[in-house]
Amino acid sequence: MDSMLDANTPLHELGVEQDILGILKTYFGFTQFRQGQEEIIRALLNRRDVLAVMPTGAGKSLCYQVPSLLLDGLTLVISPLISLMKDQVNALEAGDIPGAYLNSSLTPEDYYDTIRRAREGRYKMLYLAPERLKREDLRLLGEQVPIAMVVIDEAHCISQWGHDFRPSYFLIQSFIQSLPTRPITAAFTATATDKVKADILAILQLEDPFILTTGFNRENLYFGVQRIPYAQDKMRALLEYLKKYPDRSGIIYCATRKTVEDLCDDLNAAGFAATRYHAGLEDEERQHNQDDFIYDRKPLMVATNAFGMGIDKSNVSFVIHYNMPKNIESYYQEAGRAGRDGEAADCLLYYSPQDVQTNRYLITTSAPGEPPRDPELVGHNLELLKAMTYYATTHDCLRSQLLAYFGDTPGHYCGNCSNCTTQFESVDIRVAAQKIISCVYRIEQRGKRFGKLMVVDILRGGKGQKLLSQGLNTLSTYGIMADTDAHRIRTILDYLVAQNYLVLEGDAYPVLCIAPRSWEVIQEKTPLLMMLPKESASPRHKQSEDLEGLSSLDESLLSKLKALRNHLAHEARLPAYIIFSDASLQDMCRKKPRTPAQFLAVSGVGKVKMEKYGNLFTRLIQDTCGRHSGGPQG
Ligand code: ADP
Ligand code: MG
Repeated sequence: MDSMLDANTPLHELGVEQDILGILKTYFGFTQFRQGQEEIIRALLNRRDVLAVMPTGAGKSLCYQVPSLLLDGLTLVISPLISLMKDQVNALEAGDIPGAYLNSSLTPEDYYDTIRRAREGRYKMLYLAPERLKREDLRLLGEQVPIAMVVIDEAHCISQWGHDFRPSYFLIQSFIQSLPTRPITAAFTATATDKVKADILAILQLEDPFILTTGFNRENLYFGVQRIPYAQDKMRALLEYLKKYPDRSGIIYCATRKTVEDLCDDLNAAGFAATRYHAGLEDEERQHNQDDFIYDRKPLMVATNAFGMGIDKSNVSFVIHYNMPKNIESYYQEAGRAGRDGEAADCLLYYSPQDVQTNRYLITTSAPGEPPRDPELVGHNLELLKAMTYYATTHDCLRSQLLAYFGDTPGHYCGNCSNCTTQFESVDIRVAAQKIISCVYRIEQRGKRFGKLMVVDILRGGKGQKLLSQGLNTLSTYGIMADTDAHRIRTILDYLVAQNYLVLEGDAYPVLCIAPRSWEVIQEKTPLLMMLPKESASPRHKQSEDLEGLSSLDESLLSKLKALRNHLAHEARLPAYIIFSDASLQDMCRKKPRTPAQFLAVSGVGKVKMEKYGNLFTRLIQDTCGRHSGGPQG
């Protein structure tokens, strides 16, 4: 490929505006920096080391890619995931930026070819896995080519306190020291705990670094918790969601490999194009499935938490957690893979109380052959689980819960989470609570104890075999809440347990028992208030409104633009979002550009993409919408 840039081109010959905004538009197609980007870029151009902590999707790549184009010499980017380097390099090439990668997926010929070209100064950026750093050829490269900057992406991998510790990250520091001149060193991560930050600073020996931590809020993400008392009802909730929003790409996280496999099969049987990913699959299948997802051949990815680190697919419109994760750190990181393109996206958690039991088991029980768990670590992890469970059950603003957890100081109402948008009302549950507690009491009088499921069933007058065979239909409380929805009874029941009006005993099969405080409720004459969703309230949120806001013309234009993009992507063997992100296509629908100049104003369209694709897209827009209505012709 004939590149517009190579490492030896003096800046004044670049033929582009030298200011960084010019670079941003020309090569990346954006007109504005996002929070933190410009400061980091300026620090790097002033040759300062950098530690940047920014949430997933904030746009960390651009922070080093822009300066790498302006610095003399090569930028090395250390990244833990070889499967994604190709993607990053494709994205650079789509903007005619010369980049390459070195990892074990290359044939020996390609590997040496790449090294040779790097030596000749043909690249601005070279991505590598940290393991490569111990190779002699890389050390030599460092002597033959000026290395302007070393970027450490996913820098938390260097810390044993992080969740993705990678011992080979320890090679980075000695590699940097072996270089003839010390390059600028820039570390990027989304993990902000103090221990991890301290490790990054110390191990990489950053010199007087510019440290920037942006806020954790991601405004375009809608957070929702759907409380689904019975795990077997989750599939129905999922299908409802997927039917409501067809054609969207999303990730569905499950707690276990088995759930991944079952759910993926079920979705395919229901006619959805889903693929799967977990650590138990062969490497080849994993890579293949990941590509199917990234290249939009299969819009749905069903996966365990093994999937996703470094996934840069920008058009992930939703992340659904089919099971509650073990802690909020994992939840926020996984959920944050939605909406990287800045468009509205959903992060939904399907919570059933059984998830707590499952996680508890996973945290406390060591696998066969494993030594018993360190009790201190188990205790720590149970605390984290508690915070996660609180998130799943709270009636407060979900976003404020998350942000407060990470140390931000949010307001109490965000207006874009399921608790803020679903209208809650204060309900007097005194009578319902008295009915539930009497039911537990009557059961105890018969010398029996049951779990929540059975108690709800008795109250609703269920006709299950176990219930009838034990004569529970003769209890005086049988069927006294037949007109109340099971979910609502369950919600109230959970609340009574949380308030110690009832207790749960037993670990494996917890059963409901009368508690000392139960009598307070029975004797209570004043209202007992609880926040419950209005029974008529239907969930309403920004994303659906956004879509409804598109006129039918826009929708048909959008699907034509998508078809064109997908066709081009297919021909170029690139993931569709590398040609244009969904955000760019939506901006085209808004702006309806008919001329090159108008096309250049679209977000994500830079000089290179305009030259490559401008004609095709503007012509399609003219054909679909007429020649003139979008603005003056150029
Ligand atoms: P991170 O590494 O921080 O998780 P990425 O670097 O992968 O995030 O960027 C996420 C998405 O944001 C990408 O699709 C990228 O093109 C987009 N992006 C980055 N900076 C900007 C910007 N200034 N304006 C618009 N989109 C941007
Ligand atoms: Mg990244």
